[in-house]
Amino acid sequence: MKVVVGQGSCGVATGARKTSDELERLIAEKGLTNVAVDLTGCVGTCYLEPIVDVYGDDGALQARYVKVQPDKAAAIVEEHLMGGRIVEDLAISRQDEAFLSQQKRIVLRNCGVINPEHIEEYIAAGGYEAAKKAVTSMTPQQVIEEVRISGLRGRGGAGFPTWFKWNAARQNQADQKYMVCNADEGDPGAFMDRSVLEGDPHSVLEGMLIGGYAIGASQGVIYVRAEYPLAIKRLEIAMAQARERGFLGQNLFGTGFSFDIRIKAGAGAFVCGEETALIASLEGERGMPRLKPPFPAQRGYWQKPTNINNVETFANVPWVLLHGGAALAAIGTEKSAGTKVFALAGKIKKGGLVEVPMGLPIRDIIFGIGGGIKNDKAFKAVQMGGPSGGCIPAELAGTTVDYESIPKTGAIVGSGGMIVMDEDTCMVDMARFFLDFTRKESCGKCNYCRVGTKRMLEILERITRGEGRDGDIELLEELAEKIKDGSMCGLGQTAPNPVLTTIRYFRNEYEDHIYKKK
Ligand code: SF4
Repeated sequence: MKVVVGQGSCGVATGARKTSDELERLIAEKGLTNVAVDLTGCVGTCYLEPIVDVYGDDGALQARYVKVQPDKAAAIVEEHLMGGRIVEDLAISRQDEAFLSQQKRIVLRNCGVINPEHIEEYIAAGGYEAAKKAVTSMTPQQVIEEVRISGLRGRGGAGFPTWFKWNAARQNQADQKYMVCNADEGDPGAFMDRSVLEGDPHSVLEGMLIGGYAIGASQGVIYVRAEYPLAIKRLEIAMAQARERGFLGQNLFGTGFSFDIRIKAGAGAFVCGEETALIASLEGERGMPRLKPPFPAQRGYWQKPTNINNVETFANVPWVLLHGGAALAAIGTEKSAGTKVFALAGKIKKGGLVEVPMGLPIRDIIFGIGGGIKNDKAFKAVQMGGPSGGCIPAELAGTTVDYESIPKTGAIVGSGGMIVMDEDTCMVDMARFFLDFTRKESCGKCNYCRVGTKRMLEILERITRGEGRDGDIELLEELAEKIKDGSMCGLGQTAPNPVLTTIRYFRNEYEDHIYKKK
């Protein structure tokens, strides 16, 4: 038998390591030599951590126990492991099981299932088969074609077709090219990339390897937030194991193709999620965006052709190669194929990580999967796309999550953060929070972004203090448009979005603050 304790950051934060230690201690004390204690990444139901799964000798899941603090470990050991009875009080409920059963898990296929620190478990789940197939039996152009057929678009926020970027980098000839993974996840409320890196790091390494082969790169770099120590630790373990097993390094699969990866820990600047700022940071400079063109595919890292995709994009790639591009294209909508991972946070009953087919209505995610609003309050709005995104009001909850529908609301799909707000949320204050974030994260290169966001924030602060003036809303709108037009990179161009969308849908709240001095 095997007892598996979820130990992503969400589990660890709720005490999963202590639970695991206690299970090990009790199992040793009772002399249960046939029971092993293991770990896995985030299952997705973060609101139920610490989570303990018990597998039988046949490998089948016998029970999932939730909120297992160390003092509950004895019940699992004595009743289940020794007595053979499910501990009903700790077992996951039907409603909570529905959190997972309503999802379509491609990116998260191994998260919460395998031990991310054991490459054998990834291999047993079909890992590195796609890389082998690509490198030994396909030309780079065939790999790119398969990705084109899949319709995979960059999951970092922009939604740019992955194959197109790969093709551009492939066509630029150079003695050295680079495949870079953007793991600089910095949106407040977002934890998609962190969970994938902690729960299934090999899927990202394999996706990078395949991409490296497609564009002709022999070196990969993962730019990951230094604030993600567990993700970095598991990546380092995974890379060392992949090298030992011949999945990274020289002469891969005996074909002469070489590819290796290194990690660069970023210092936590939000703007380094922007491609050219990321490259500047990689080169040891201050992380500030550069003018485009040249695009990274032409002259990127050290002036060489460079392709940058985010964690979720890479995690899709092995699945696409193994199942065929058409299989991904069959999921989601015509123009937004596949699935999207969202981090559900805020005033929601079931906060966690969800992966759903593109094209699902927001309502189905928040109420069907997320269980609705905490304390049964009324759903007011959801902030999608983090500080670069926008606020979608409850009356538009029928909007489907895809790259065509969400922008019509003024928000963006973004990297996948979903912060849910209830009837008590002050929308002006919410806009102030996000603008304060982007103002602090502005690199300062452009006047509109550096000074304009400061001026907008001052207006929002006086409005929320009850000192707003006649004309402040119009001034916010005017400044917002100027900042969008006059900023060089995506950070400034999207910084006003939370303000603009809240004015669009909740103008009455701004007016109440200004004229009723609320
Ligand atoms: Fe820097 Fe803002 Fe200009 Fe982007 S828009 S380059 S973050 S000042």
